[in-house]
This record gives sequence, structure tokens and C-alpha cells, in this order.
Amino acid sequence: MPAPLLHIETTPALPASADAVVIGGGIVGAFAAYYLARRGLKVALLEKGLIGAEQSSRNWGWCRQQNRDARELPMATKSLSLWESFAAETGEDTGFRRCGLLYLSNDESELAGWARWGDFARGVGVTTHMLDQTQASEKGAATGRRWKGGVFSPSDGTADPSRAAPVVARAVMKLGGSVHQMCAARGIELEGGRLSGVVTEAGTIRTRIAVLSGGAWASSFCRQLGIRFPQASIRSSILSVAAGAEDLPPALHTAAVSATRRGDGGYTLAISGRARVDPTPQQMRFARHFVPMFARRWRSLAPGGIEGWKSGHETLSRWRLDRPTPMEFNRILDPRPDQTQIRLTLERARALLPALEKRPVSAAWAGYIDSTPDGVPAIGEVGSLPGLVLAAGFSGHGFGIGPGAGHLIADILTGEPPIVDPKAYYPDRLNGSAWGKVADF
Ligand SMILES: Cc1cc2nc3c(=O)[nH]c(=O)nc-3n(C[C@H](O)[C@H](O)[C@H](O)COP(=O)(O)OP(=O)(O)OC[C@H]3O[C@@H](n4cnc5c(N)ncnc54)[C@H](O)[C@@H]3O)c2cc1C
Repeated sequence: MPAPLLHIETTPALPASADAVVIGGGIVGAFAAYYLARRGLKVALLEKGLIGAEQSSRNWGWCRQQNRDARELPMATKSLSLWESFAAETGEDTGFRRCGLLYLSNDESELAGWARWGDFARGVGVTTHMLDQTQASEKGAATGRRWKGGVFSPSDGTADPSRAAPVVARAVMKLGGSVHQMCAARGIELEGGRLSGVVTEAGTIRTRIAVLSGGAWASSFCRQLGIRFPQASIRSSILSVAAGAEDLPPALHTAAVSATRRGDGGYTLAISGRARVDPTPQQMRFARHFVPMFARRWRSLAPGGIEGWKSGHETLSRWRLDRPTPMEFNRILDPRPDQTQIRLTLERARALLPALEKRPVSAAWAGYIDSTPDGVPAIGEVGSLPGLVLAAGFSGHGFGIGPGAGHLIADILTGEPPIVDPKAYYPDRLNGSAWGKVADF
């Protein structure tokens, strides 16, 4: 069974023109469209499949500052407030709750790392509490084990991946924007070197502004425009179990396995960082840029299969604007979950949390996580193509910071003061070397 997803009604009728066109209806594109529409722009949001159907519905739902890289922390903090204000502004429920995130460990070096991060984070105003042995064991009572220590970050939380992007897209429509599912953008038209339209499979929308929030498809789209965007994805496999387990922490991380309460009362189970690398043409093209990232994470990665190659999201081929593109042949990137990983995750979760023992598996799925070489997203105008803002490469953290990213995109495009300093996100930084700059997770 694939990841659960709320389906929303949208319209096939494209506007002839728009103030801004957003390409890609994941959490980032949905929030970008929302903040643009709130500023009075006429926005069209294009999604080649279903809103939220790729990474944005396949994740754990964590919205965290805890252990966040310094470059992303300000956006993570702002995003937590934006998740809340979105609900107040629209009456829509993304499932966001500041339930707090609990990390438990018996590993001294892991605990020391969390303590170091805590010292830095408290200095910039983040609330995070180190837990001693007694506190960790009490907070982790559901495991029935003793823990050497842990961390609790009370102001962090989770939102519901099965509904967040769809309800944000619904809010865009309430503000007068239009949303178009099963509608791939094939390319960009230029006039005098500036963006003048977005060509879709259903016609062209005249516009001077476009946002490319195409997740794992962004680099192959950029290639059509002569823009070099080093991006690669890995396949992560996770599962959910049915509701009914009582008294578990809402969001728990351990090195062995993590568990997150879902909107339906079930739990998402996953092994943090564990993924398969499915080779693709694009991955080979950018391989040397990812060496530092790989050197940091190789212990959690395993070789994958040919599905990345077959799915077409990392193709190096060129496509034509008057013919179906790879995006129309693969409406929803839905890679096969790694069954060995799923079995291991379930086994570890049931061993860690006895209350899960009798809970049946409700779904298992995989998602391609798109990453930049330094693990920080690329958000900003592309120098070579005025009018185009790139917003991709969210490197496994884009769900939680989706609101902040969307807000920043709207700030850039409307000339408002940016919600956070945008420098760390400039796409142009990826033209240099990524050695030594890989994000701390
Ligand atoms: C297993 C897993 C666990 C994760 N856990 C977390 C977590 O706990 N917290 C967290 O913050 N992040 C997490 N992430 C990462 C997070 O899900 C992503 O960073 C985030 O969802 C990226 O959002 P996006 O909008 O950039 O991309 P996506 O959600 O992938 O959306 C991109 C959309 O663009 C569409 N598209 C692409 N090209 C075109 C085109 N040309 N025309 C029209 N549409 C197009 C695609 O169909 C897709 O729907 C996890 C990811 C996975 C897979």
C-alpha cells in the first residue's frame, strides 16, 4: 500500500496568464503559492501528478529545530511559527502540533554531540533540554528500558504528511489561485532573455515569474534550460502501523528505529538515515560533488537497483516541448520499498516499543529524497534566467521547513524583506566545491 494521501479537487482549465507559476505541488511549491497568493498575486500551481504525492506525503512529518545545521536553523524556527499561523489564517488543519521530539541514546559520543548542539542552539534562543539517565528513562518509559540520556525539544513538532500539502493547495484556491493536477510543466519560454511563459502539457501560461519546486525532478528540468544544478536522490523505505498503541511518545528517535504518531493514530516507523543508492545517469554526472556527503553517510547507505534509472527523474536526456516528457510517463515517483529494510524496521520497532507488537502494518512505501552536495536546499533566483526561482534539494528536511521556504520564495519574488537571510541558500554556491561543508543533521 502506498503512503496515504488526501486527494483534493482541482481544475484542468489553465489560465492564459498568471502573475506567477509554481512548478511542483509538494510542500514547498504549495507554500510558495500560498504566500504569493496572500500577497495578492494571481498564482497557478502546477503538479504533474497529485498534490503532495511524492516526498511530501512519504516523510515522517518531523518539523524540527533539534540537531539542525546552523545554516537551516533560522528557517526551521520561523517555519514552526508559520505552521501555526497557517492554521489560524485559513482554518485548514495540516495536523501540525508542537508535541515535542524525544531522542534517546545509550551512546556517550552521540549524547556528547547532542549536548554540543544544545549549547549552540540555546545561544540562538532554541529551547532544548538534555535529559539525564533518570529523565531519559522516565520519558522513554514506553520502551521499558534504561537509557543513558537523551534530548527533548518541546517547541518542535510534527505535521501530517498525508494532508499537509493538499490542504495548503486548497488554501491557495480559496485565495483565488488556481491549482492544476496531472499537468506537467515541460519548459520555459523566454523573451529578451527573460522568462515570459511556462509551457505545460495543456498549453502555455504567460508569466514573468516561475518557481521550480520540482523536488527530485528539478535538476533534469534545469538541464533543459542550460542550468547546472547538482542534485542526487536516495531511496528511503518506511512503513506505518495501525492505530491502537497507547501511551507512546508522539515522536521518538533512537539509533535503532524511530516512531512518529500519525494523524490517524497509527505510527510511522523508520530507521533514520538508512537508504539505498539507485544509480542514475544524473548521479554519475554529479558523483564527484557528492563524495563528501557520501563519506559522511556511507554507513547508512546500501547499493540499490535499476529503478532510479527506469523512473526517469534523473535522466540526462533532452525533451521537446511539443511531446510528452519523462514527467508525463511517471506521474508519481513511487519506487518499490526495500522489503528487507521494512522487515528490519518493524522488528526493531516492536522490540523497542512492546505496545506496537500487535499493531498490524497498514502501509509500506519508499520515497526518493533529493539532496544537494552540501545538504542545504537551493533557494533563489537563477542568475542565468531572470524570473526563475529554484527551490529544490531539500536534502531530507524540506517538510518541516516547507512554510519558511515558501515564505522566503514569496519574499524574493515580491521584494519584501526576507524572512531569513537567504545567502546560505543561494543556488550559485553549488558552482563551487562542497568539500567540508556537508550539513550536520
Ligand atoms: C522517507 C522520508 C522521510 C522524510 N522525513 C522527513 C521529516 O521527518 N521531516 C522533514 O522535514 N523532511 C523529511 N523528508 C524530506 C521531505 O519529505 C522533503 O524534503 C520535502 O517533502 C520536499 O518537498 P518538495 O516540495 O521540495 O518536493 P516533493 O514533495 O517531492 O514535491 C515535488 C513535486 O513536484 C512535482 N513536479 C516535478 N516536476 C514537475 C513538473 N515539471 N511539472 C509539474 N510538477 C512537477 C512532483 O510530481 C512532486 O509532486 C523525508 C523524506 C522521505 C522520502
